[in-house]
Amino acid sequence: MGRSGPVIAIDGPSGAGKSTLANALAIRLGVEALDTGAMYRAVAWAALDRGIDPHDAEAVAALARSVNIGIDDALQVDGREVTDAIRSGEVDSVVSVVAANPAVREEMVRRQREWLSVRGAGVIEGRDIANVVAPDADLKVYLTASSTVRADRRASQLGMPGDTALVEEQMSLRDRVDSTRAVSPLAPPGATAPGAIVIDSTGKGPDEVVEEVLAWL
Ligand code: C5P
Repeated sequence: MGRSGPVIAIDGPSGAGKSTLANALAIRLGVEALDTGAMYRAVAWAALDRGIDPHDAEAVAALARSVNIGIDDALQVDGREVTDAIRSGEVDSVVSVVAANPAVREEMVRRQREWLSVRGAGVIEGRDIANVVAPDADLKVYLTASSTVRADRRASQLGMPGDTALVEEQMSLRDRVDSTRAVSPLAPPGATAPGAIVIDSTGKGPDEVVEEVLAWL
């Protein structure tokens, strides 16, 4: 299918503001946004729910291939609404292990490409979008922010605003696993996809970042 609008790829570490940016851009451009992290979180949540050990590569791969992940409006796993459940600290602590499983990545990337090919346009955010999922994107953005700002944002999201130090520690562990895994690791800002623009959102409001990205289109 041909393009029905722009394809924008957004990558970056946790708490950089990728989802906020993706949703705002999607509204401005009249396209849909896809949060690929939510898909890996959905698989991790389903593993915990079914008592599958996240380190059991074969069992988690089979789960990833069979689980139904609904990504319209609310996030659903096999028909159950899990929008909030996939953001829990418990899912945070196992999602990177699940996402490092090559068979899980293969299946999620296949579903993400299908999402894009059905729509012909969209804003997709994650860790491997510019390099793997949509290397032909019209615009590639690497979004980052200082680790304190990222932890602050995540702590508020988790409803524990006083625990920034603890959240920062857990987040940096997750980022380390995401950046050092064998398959499609998150690249550092200086080594991201060719042509990608790097934006540091530290000290910037969401609207400012949106305008900065739109100016590149
Ligand atoms: O973006 P978010 O922090 O919700 O992503 C959760 C986890 O999913 C990341 O820590 C990473 O392990 C994984 N992920 C990934 N590739 C993507 C998106 C997310 O490996 N494209």
